[in-house]
Amino acid sequence: YPTDKIRNFSIIAHVDHGKSTLADRLLELTGTIKRGHGQPQYLDKLQKEGQNNRTIFRWRKTSLFCALRASTMVERERGITVKAQTATMFYNYELKKGDPSYLLNLVDTPGHVDFSYEVSRSLAACQGALLVVDAAQGVQAQTVANFYLAFESNLAIIPVINKIDQPTADPDRVKAQLKSMFDLDTSDVLLTSAKTGQGLEHVLPAVIERIPPPPGKCDSNLRMFLLDSYYDEYKGVICHVAVVDGSLRKGDKITSAATSQSYEVLDVGIMHPELRPTGFLLTGQVGYMVSGMRSTKEARVGDTLFHSRTTVEPLPGFKPAKHMVFSGLYPADGSDFEGLNHAIERLTCNDASVSVARESSTALGLGFRCGFLGLLHMDVFHQRLEQEYGTHIISTVPTVPYIFEYSDGSKVEVQNPAAFTANPKIRVVASWEPTVLATIIIPSEYVGAVINLCSERRGEQIEYSFIDTQRAFMKYRLPLREIVVDFYNELKSITSGYASFDYEDSEYVASDVVKLDILLNGQPVDAMATIVHKLKAQRVGRELVEKLKKYIDRQMFEITIQAAIDSKVIARETISAMRKNVLAKCYGGDVTRKKKLLEKQKEGKKRMKRVGSVDIPQEAFHAILKVS
Ligand code: GDP
Ligand code: MG
Repeated sequence: YPTDKIRNFSIIAHVDHGKSTLADRLLELTGTIKRGHGQPQYLDKLQKEGQNNRTIFRWRKTSLFCALRASTMVERERGITVKAQTATMFYNYELKKGDPSYLLNLVDTPGHVDFSYEVSRSLAACQGALLVVDAAQGVQAQTVANFYLAFESNLAIIPVINKIDQPTADPDRVKAQLKSMFDLDTSDVLLTSAKTGQGLEHVLPAVIERIPPPPGKCDSNLRMFLLDSYYDEYKGVICHVAVVDGSLRKGDKITSAATSQSYEVLDVGIMHPELRPTGFLLTGQVGYMVSGMRSTKEARVGDTLFHSRTTVEPLPGFKPAKHMVFSGLYPADGSDFEGLNHAIERLTCNDASVSVARESSTALGLGFRCGFLGLLHMDVFHQRLEQEYGTHIISTVPTVPYIFEYSDGSKVEVQNPAAFTANPKIRVVASWEPTVLATIIIPSEYVGAVINLCSERRGEQIEYSFIDTQRAFMKYRLPLREIVVDFYNELKSITSGYASFDYEDSEYVASDVVKLDILLNGQPVDAMATIVHKLKAQRVGRELVEKLKKYIDRQMFEITIQAAIDSKVIARETISAMRKNVLAKCYGGDVTRKKKLLEKQKEGKKRMKRVGSVDIPQEAFHAILKVS
């Protein structure tokens, strides 16, 4: 396939607008997959099935395949695509003169805000994108975010209004929104139903007509992008690559621009949609490559690979993923540090976007401080640890990276409240916190409630306009700290689920923050410490002690719960002592009943953390995550 017969494109959409369904239909239309009823969406499924059905038997045995499989479970449960996948299709475009056969590469993109890094990574291999919008819901926050990612990458954008079969579909209204929001030419918008198949026949012709072929040079030295990688237990590290210039053949010697390591290409081919060896990839093609890399850590996403003994200008890399949310992860079951260690190692071997460092807490023992791209990313990671490895974890209140200037003139990024006063001799003289630019789209009747929520979260309104007569568009600058804790849930609940929300990282702003300590019987619980804005400290402190009072059971002695700033107590509760112990009722008579009670007590204990003399149930740690 010469480059003018190749098109590389992706589908971008707000969650649930039909991206995966449309992708499936296109794969069916081109015979890439068979038409199946009630089948899970193919692109979402790729990861779990691996290359072929053998893996169905394999996955039971090996935790890695469990990981791949279950990662898709998480995706399916939450209806989101986390990792981008690619599939190659062959298409005969009869209306075009000359040879009608085209090679189309569909690069899947994740739909959620946390993964905009993955989106821009996928877009780097594309020249165009289908912008899918639900005909009833219209433009939503992630439509806006994804549109701008594609627009900034200079992609040709083909608007597709999907779900036109719905009774509430209003394509004209959506057209007007696309025109007013993005200044798109709406005379040739595609109208489709991925469900009934209506209008789908126009999609691939539009891809060929309106998206330019890849611009690479066939006769130049090889330059290829490393888009993604994953680990396969039989083949080793499998890299997804886009050949920008030149061509790649099996047996070639290649070198990484990032690490200067050299490799021999052992296998190369396309995803059709399973791995299909072709022995080569030509200019403009997207496919896979196996080169004897030992771990995915060698496969730097965004790296440029070239033929050894040639010199090329490296392609502009992707901006590295920035970790915006940090939390401590500890085994809930004190003894099982090794189990957690193992699980985290296996999980991060396919998700390099999580950062991991060991840390220890006096309350919780040995654990890890992990950095995530955002809240959902963190949630998915926690869920996978539990589902795939059966590890029970306690996570600490998520923190954002603050910058502190100390009295000795040093400036540091602090990812852990414990580091706030690491050295008692120096004071914090100034602090800065990260902010985000949030896009919120809501039906107009909810404007008041959303403005209240945002100002309570220390937000500053940047823009307020209307997409059409029924929908408002708001832009806010919000401290990241204020949205990592339960913001999205609250936004959803005050708008009856109608709000859509997205955010991008923005600058650091000066902010007066303090460390809030929680003390149980006078002893600080380091894992419950948090950094908060001075103005909110009083309220957060009060809420925290009230929550804890609810979750900590009475014990044989009185327990005081305090919130303190700089050892000054700002809130306090007490739990009075229990009068009887569990066996008091048994009169020493009924042995089985006594046994049962003791067992019950033991069971309860397993999920406890003892701090000093106080037992704290796991739920208490979970409950305080939601105090903001
Ligand atoms: P994604 O999150 O953008 O990948 O969306 P999905 O492809 O998972 O679709 C979300 C939901 O919308 C699923 O329940 C689909 O069956 C449904 N859906 C997708 N396309 C259409 C369509 O054209 N019409 C209707 N009525 N439903 C659709
Ligand atoms: Mg999907």
